[in-house]
Amino acid sequence: MATYEYRCPRDGTFPARYPIGQAPGQVRCATCAAEAVRVYSAPSLRAMPRPLVAALDRAGRSAEAPEVVSRVPGRRVAPARPAHPGHARLPRP
Ligand SMILES: [Zn+2]
Repeated sequence: MATYEYRCPRDGTFPARYPIGQAPGQVRCATCAAEAVRVYSAPSLRAMPRPLVAALDRAGRSAEAPEVVSRVPGRRVAPARPAHPGHARLPRP
């Protein structure tokens, strides 16, 4: 289901939910029963979590202009020194 927006000439815009790709061009207004036409609007990206929006933006940019990297992204380089001096005495794999 997706939320579509319709505009009633008397009451303004209102949302309506239909399966994706099956939204009619006109519906009856729930308030005055007049014909309301479908309005094409921007998708609601506000509801998406910010990290997901950032990942989608990165994926889009990567498709258009991939960055040149010298190592596999996401891998961390081992720190030069342990954060705590006691960690240096722990057994290593
Ligand atoms: Zn109306």
